Order: sequence, then structure tokens, then C-alpha cells
Amino acid sequence: MASNRSRTAGRHFLQIPGPSPIPDRILRAMDMPIIDHRGPAFGKLARRVLDGVKTIFKTTNPVIIFPSSGTGAWEAALVNTLSPGDHVLMFETGQFGTLWKKMAEKLGIVPVFIASDWRTGADPKAIEAKLREDKEKKIKAVAVLHNETSTGCVSPVAEVRKAIDAAGHPALLLVDTISSLASIDYRHDEWGVDVTVGGSQKGFMLPPGISFNAVSDKALAASKTSKLPKSFFGWEEMLAMNKSNFFPYTPATNVLFGLAEAIDMLHEEGLENVFARHDRLAEATRRAVRTWGLEILCKEPKHYSSTITAIFLPEGNNADQFRATALENFDISYGASFGPYAGKYFRIGHLGDINDGTLIGALALTEMALGVAGVPHKKGGTQAAMDYLAEDAKKRTN
Ligand SMILES: *Cc1c(COP(=O)(O)O)cnc(C)c1O
Repeated sequence: MASNRSRTAGRHFLQIPGPSPIPDRILRAMDMPIIDHRGPAFGKLARRVLDGVKTIFKTTNPVIIFPSSGTGAWEAALVNTLSPGDHVLMFETGQFGTLWKKMAEKLGIVPVFIASDWRTGADPKAIEAKLREDKEKKIKAVAVLHNETSTGCVSPVAEVRKAIDAAGHPALLLVDTISSLASIDYRHDEWGVDVTVGGSQKGFMLPPGISFNAVSDKALAASKTSKLPKSFFGWEEMLAMNKSNFFPYTPATNVLFGLAEAIDMLHEEGLENVFARHDRLAEATRRAVRTWGLEILCKEPKHYSSTITAIFLPEGNNADQFRATALENFDISYGASFGPYAGKYFRIGHLGDINDGTLIGALALTEMALGVAGVPHKKGGTQAAMDYLAEDAKKRTN
């Protein structure tokens, strides 16, 4: 917001890849007086969300809901399944992959880190090779990000599972879906994932504040012998209390009202339609980027993310300055850049409660901001996105 203005008219264009904009329906659902979290009304709400959320993870096993940001659910996935000194195979997909690895180190776990150039998803072949080398079976878990939010690269989770099985390795599979769940197709049970980590503020369209662990039977069995210290994030007490529709400590009551609404909304639209919408909007974004003559950070189409696109600016242009210019002039926020390419790219989030109109507005503002900031580019990117979406609409109408 400009410093000489105290109000900006209309809605801010929040195009960061999470927290994503909250639909009015969810805001209203949360606008409730606080209720007794040990009383019967809460019990009903808890049952509704604990059951409902399984349909989004696509699991018939329990899903644990923590009152924490996604980082807490990362920690929970590690401390409930592993013991001090255990090795965990991780992939350097980008900033979030690196942060999860640093967390593992802090907790006394030994990460085996597969390096990459931050422009790709996890490589199942490299994972299989590392597991085959691990004759002593020191590696107790493989941890990957379904969607690396810092780069916009997706990892093939089902193929990672197959790689673990092909190596004949007993490692657990832990997957971060914080910026993909409820936006990109994901199947906890079918893909044989042991712990799926989720968050509230991205695909679920909720405020930050709750996070998830979906757990397999194998993960639950591992939790019985895991020796890392755990208290707040321990699964055991939580699962025991959840059986009677309650939580061991105060849950994020009003976010749970929102979650119940979000689950209903996702099913009203249909999960398949939600995924198709994200795919379409991501493709429209990429067409705009290519028309502008700019480069997409994610190298290979098979890794393209449907929730976020990271875009390099031409050499000599500062992406942080570009973001500031766009915010100042057009009230639009983008995601920042990290790691080896800090200052060189910006990220457009296109996830959650977003439609064609929102995306085209965001792309038009971006095209205008490129001009204002003096970033060399070709005009017409927004038009290319419009043409694609209109063409696609025609196909679906006929
Ligand atoms: C946002 C995000 C996180 C961190 O979640 P917080 O809610 O900020 O703690 C972790 N992993 C991925 C992939 C994310 O997108």
C-alpha cells in the first residue's frame, strides 16, 4: 500500500502461494461465538471435520488436526515416527525441502540429502539408488514435498512409493502437501503414503492456524517404538481423545468451523473439478509468461505446479524491486524468491478460491507492472491467457 494513502479501494490481489484468499462463505462460517470445546456442540463439529477431512486426503485412516502452522505438522511427522540418529532421505527441491531437512537436523535425525538445482521435483530414480546403497537399512524414512512452493515444482509421489518398493526398502514415506492438498490430485491411501503433512491456509482456503497429519497403519506402528521426544505433537493422546470427538488441549475452534465449510465447498464443486480448475489456471499463467518472453523456473513440464508459477526476470532486473513496484501501483502481492536465485524471480500463486476472472485480473496487473518497472517483455501475455481460457470454455460448452 502506498504510504500516502490510508485506504486502497477494492480487494487486494493476494497472489502469494499461501495464505490464499478466504472465500466470504468461509469467513461467515467462522464468524461464530466461541463454544465450549468440551461440550456437545463441539463434539459434533469435531466428528464432522475429523471424518470430512479424510475425504480430502483420500484416506480411511485417521487424520490428526493440530492447532499449529504447517511447520508443526512437519515436526509431528518426524518426531512420531523416528528415533534419534535415524537417517531420513530427503530431496533438495528448494527452500521448503531445505527447511524440512534443517528441522530434521535440529531434532537429532540424520538427513541424507539429495542435492538438486532448485528447478526440478524429487527424482524417484535417485531415491531408489540411494535406498539400494543402504544395505544396513539405516534410512527409516523418505521425506518429499508433493509441491515445492518456493519453485513451483511438483514431485511424483506415486513414483517415489514405487521406487521405495522396487528397492525392497522398508522406509516410511512422509509427504508434505501443504501447498498442493485440495488443489492438485493427491491420494494418501492409494499412493501408499505413511504420513501426509497438510496445512490450512493454502488449498483449504482457511486462515493459517491448523495443520494435519494423515497416518497409515505402518506409521502408527512406527509411532509405538519411535523414541524422539514429543508432547504437544504426540499422536497417541490426540488419537485417543479424537475417538470421543475431543482434543487433548484447546483446538482452534473457529478455524474448525471454517474447515467444515471448506470441506463442503470442495465437494460441492467436486474434487476433480477443483483439480481441473487449478490445472487450467496454471496453464493460462504459463502461456502468459511465455508470451511475455520470460522464463518459467521449473524446467520440465512434467514437474509444473498447478498452484504456483515461479518466473525469472531477465538478467539485471531485481525481482524484489519489481514486486514492490507492483504492490505500490496495483495493490498486488507475489511470492518472494529464495536460495540460489534470490532476487531473480517472483512467484504467482494461483490456488484456492480463484477463478478465471481473478487470474486474468492478476495477469493484467502483472503485465502492467512489468511495464511500469521497466522490465523488458513482449505485450500480450494476458491476451494469450484469455484466449486459452476462452478456447477451453468453448470445448467444455460444446
Ligand atoms: C507453506 C509451506 C510450509 C510451511 O507452512 P507454515 O504454515 O508456514 O508453517 C511448508 N511446506 C510447504 C510446501 C509450504 O508451502
